[in-house]
Amino acid sequence: MARRKKIYEGKAKTLFEGPEPGTIVQYFKDDATAFNAEKRDVIEGKGVLNNMLSEYFMNGLTQIGVPNHFIRRLNMREQLVRACEIIPLEVIVRNFAAGSMAKRLGIEEGTPLPRPIVEYCYKDDALGDPLVSEEHIAAFGWASQQDMEDILSLALRVNDFLSGVMFGVGIKLVDFKIEIGRVYEGDFMRLLVADEISPDSCRLWDLETGQKLDKDVFRRDLGSLTDAYSEVARRLGVMPKGATPMKPTLIN
Ligand code: C5P
Repeated sequence: MARRKKIYEGKAKTLFEGPEPGTIVQYFKDDATAFNAEKRDVIEGKGVLNNMLSEYFMNGLTQIGVPNHFIRRLNMREQLVRACEIIPLEVIVRNFAAGSMAKRLGIEEGTPLPRPIVEYCYKDDALGDPLVSEEHIAAFGWASQQDMEDILSLALRVNDFLSGVMFGVGIKLVDFKIEIGRVYEGDFMRLLVADEISPDSCRLWDLETGQKLDKDVFRRDLGSLTDAYSEVARRLGVMPKGATPMKPTLIN
């Protein structure tokens, strides 16, 4: 395998220069972190599951016309994506109160929200990704007013799509986070859904039992994270029956 140039190493993924200009290879690691990396572990097979699940969700978004960075999966741990300029915001959509919002506003986890609530956090690990308002976003020039309208529309479309897909397999989409990237096509700039969509970045509860099938299993020590993610993959038909997520592969 040809040597690839590493562009960036994040907590759960490493990015390499892609084979063609304007492309990037996303390598999904088995590292799990929570609470701004204060809690960390290596969960065998997590990267494989997230690679397959993100492929599944991004392909679904493409099918319904929601622009995203996914090009194709390369192997069990890697996918080829469009290079884009990431807007420094975490876009969170919530359908039910949970996590930081439940805590911040004193609302019981699981309380249905009157409508989807979209929140923005400034992507900065050193600051712990603080919640920001559209005022901050405009004042500091992280995104324009037009960008914000497009981001909101993308976020709500992803929410409707993901909620429906998950409902179809008996899972409630409590909340999720997406990241948005910019690409330039000639004189035009377009926004698209980037990064990943996986149980690392969603809250997924079994509709019947309320069992958590997402990263809260790791954050709150609720059992095996691989089992939880495998269950999501199994229900969606993403992992063939009996397949086991394999160990990390060495890449040059
Ligand atoms: O922690 P909080 O309740 O704000 O998280 C909301 C949603 O965003 C959860 O689904 C969580 O997994 C996701 N999230 C994320 N990456 C972060 C923060 C939150 O994927 N850095």
